[in-house]
Amino acid sequence: MSKMSEAEVRTEVRTWLTANWDPEMSLVGWRSKLADSGWGMPHWPEAWYGRGLPVGLTRVVEEEFANVGAVGAAKSGVRLLAAATLLEHGTDLQKKKFLRRILTGEDNWCQLFSEPGSGSDLAGATTRADLNGDYWIINGQKVWTTSAHHADHGLLLARTDWDAPKHEGMSFFVIDIKQPGIDVQPLKQMNGHASFNQVFFTDAKVPVENLVGRVGEGWKVAVTTLAHERRGADGLSAPSKRGSRTGRIYVEERAELETANQPYKWYPQRAGRVDLVIERAKETGANTDPNVRQEIARLMIMAKSAEWTARRARAAQQQGRPQGPEGSLGKLAASNVARAAARVHTLITSTEAMLTGSESPRNGIIAEILVSVPAVSIAGGTDEIQRNIIAERVLDLPKEPRFDTGPFRNVRRN
Ligand SMILES: Cc1cc2nc3c(=O)[nH]c(=O)nc-3n(C[C@H](O)[C@H](O)[C@H](O)COP(=O)(O)OP(=O)(O)OC[C@H]3O[C@@H](n4cnc5c(N)ncnc54)[C@H](O)[C@@H]3O)c2cc1C
Repeated sequence: MSKMSEAEVRTEVRTWLTANWDPEMSLVGWRSKLADSGWGMPHWPEAWYGRGLPVGLTRVVEEEFANVGAVGAAKSGVRLLAAATLLEHGTDLQKKKFLRRILTGEDNWCQLFSEPGSGSDLAGATTRADLNGDYWIINGQKVWTTSAHHADHGLLLARTDWDAPKHEGMSFFVIDIKQPGIDVQPLKQMNGHASFNQVFFTDAKVPVENLVGRVGEGWKVAVTTLAHERRGADGLSAPSKRGSRTGRIYVEERAELETANQPYKWYPQRAGRVDLVIERAKETGANTDPNVRQEIARLMIMAKSAEWTARRARAAQQQGRPQGPEGSLGKLAASNVARAAARVHTLITSTEAMLTGSESPRNGIIAEILVSVPAVSIAGGTDEIQRNIIAERVLDLPKEPRFDTGPFRNVRRN
């Protein structure tokens, strides 16, 4: 890892930006330069489009980019989950083939893990992969697949051995989504958006070189993806502060974000919009109601302590220490905060909270909060599953009884 000081990093990135940043370049052309220079992902290894800097120093690089309005590497969607997984488990060939196009934004990715009968019980997946010559042949169904409708590649967990125990018979693949054997069907949610899809595989093909990790080690690889997901590496990239700037690159970036962020447009609402609570209380006069004030205070205490816990986890990570229990608690805290915020918004807005459309409170945002917060308690592992993890791995309590040992073929399942 590079031993550069903060001041050295700042000088070097500033000099590089002065020599290279040009808002009239094409978006892909500029991001290719970022990939070559390592400044797009400075904490990645030098051999793979990074500069080997500690995570803590990426902030310095981001500040220098922001100062000149320079666009960063592509980060939206699940592409960074794919990158993190490939950096840890991928072959050199896979890193070469996929990482660069992740950073330039040329390829979009999705995560093909959950199935109708296996969400929490992810290791119970029954989508199968059978080896035939130079290809794995895929048959089965995935569901909840965010962004599959505009993805180029998917991270696929599939069963390759039905006689091995559940967690040992899975393998992990990168699959080309745009092929004849794959049928992607969008699903409409109760908040009106269609972020997810069900994905059907009928003799879809994966070339053998797209197996990630070894045959039977898919679970281990998937755990890496999930760990990054729970740390929040998926979803919405920070909204562009470059607003209405002119210049070819900004126009292309806005077009890219419009498509890439479509499935995540409601994600701020699913987090409960704590930021709107006080404004709304003042706006409606609910701030004079002592019961509402109590609820607002309770929510703010929860939200602040969750934020500080998350900061503690981040600080530990930046100093190269393990995150500790804070990392496991964060996801559950986010669910509790979102639910409490939805309750407070309902108290403040009353029955009008159910209205949508242009004349509704905040243009339907309040109603969207109410029908979006349940997602936090489900996505990336449900609250109950997080509690099991905290109980077993953090508090070291006895494990739940298991009924799924032995060959997977004989395990009772959905
Ligand atoms: C916004 C969002 C985006 C998503 N994006 C993707 C994606 O891109 N790709 C993807 O593969 N998946 C995605 N998912 C799916 C998500 O990972 C699953 O929905 C989740 O893991 C839960 O699985 P399930 O829906 O099958 O529920 P189930 O596993 O059927 O759970 C049903 C209920 O039973 C409880 N339960 C289950 N097992 C236990 C247990 N052992 N102990 C106690 N309680 C238990 C659960 O907590 C839950 O309340 C997404 C989900 C959401 C909401």
